[in-house]
Amino acid sequence: MGLRERDDLADLDGYHSAQVDVDVRLNTNESPYPPPGSWREALLEELARVPFHRYPDRDALALRSAIGELHGVGPEQVLAANGSNEILQCVCLAYGGRDRTAVVFEPTYRLHSHIARITGTTVVSGSRKPDFTVDVTEVRRVVGEAQPEIAFMCSPNNPTGRLEPPDVLEALIDVAPGLVVVDEAYGQFAPHSALELMAADQTLVVVRTFSKTWSMAAARLAYLLGPAAVVQTLEKVLLPYHLDAMKQAAGRLALRFGAEMEARVAQIVEERGRLAAALAELPVETWPSGANFILFRPQARAGDDVWQALLDRSVLVRNCVDWPGVEGCLRVTVGTPAENDAFLAALTGALA
Ligand code: PMP
Repeated sequence: MGLRERDDLADLDGYHSAQVDVDVRLNTNESPYPPPGSWREALLEELARVPFHRYPDRDALALRSAIGELHGVGPEQVLAANGSNEILQCVCLAYGGRDRTAVVFEPTYRLHSHIARITGTTVVSGSRKPDFTVDVTEVRRVVGEAQPEIAFMCSPNNPTGRLEPPDVLEALIDVAPGLVVVDEAYGQFAPHSALELMAADQTLVVVRTFSKTWSMAAARLAYLLGPAAVVQTLEKVLLPYHLDAMKQAAGRLALRFGAEMEARVAQIVEERGRLAAALAELPVETWPSGANFILFRPQARAGDDVWQALLDRSVLVRNCVDWPGVEGCLRVTVGTPAENDAFLAALTGALA
């Protein structure tokens, strides 16, 4: 008898992004800047004192308290985990599963539907308009019909960059019978946040990550903010001691460098403006972005060819040409000014 994979996994592909050795890597929305040197020194000092023969603080209380402080809530309203994807998986394990439904609005971050399916959750998809905004009427229709246990909204949305206006989120919170999960992996690059809508009696949770703004993609650390009762439920599906001591220290210490991180965000937002203005002069279609990346569709040449031509010039962007809803598109992460210049020069050549 052969190995028997779960039937519902047979059609699922894993999630991959090329890790190619290039001069300019703008394909995974990382920060182009490393964390401050003084953070690294503080971390090394603290690591020298980690009692490695002991399990870490299972509740990660110091880290959760520091994150809570940043947002004006207590640690009981904070769930920390190994990246946003693990948070999303916890949400699906705790609130999804067999005979349960999650709603997404496509095109959006593929891991929302992917993780939902892996956990056996039925996925119902609403559509974005051709300009990638979400229509309140569509929210009410899809959520009203599906009555989902989980409603995902990615804002700013990956891969389109669109930021959802408060009225869309308010409509979603109003109509959703279950949990509303706003994925704000790119939240700090945007002018407003779903955090402003969070109140103790609501079913809204907001997910944020250290991977982008905090320049710590290598650390794999993210958190969810939400009602204490939801955090308690999510804790039930976490593995024991899921956050290692090194990561807890890395995250806690990073929060001391808020000003440095904000300066990085401001720099990236400024560069995003410069990149958007330059793209507007080229034969590509683009959309407004509230994130640290810009989606664009080459008009005169096929996206695949442009992607390859960029790679030939040692510039790697995300190839989204066959992603449903964003066919023919490429996505470029905002890098350092020098990286963005290199990208623009390569793109100008690739489109010629
Ligand atoms: N959500 C969105 C919308 C993302 O784009 C990403 C990263 N690609 C993630 C979550 C995952 O981030 P993390 O590194 O925290 O797992």
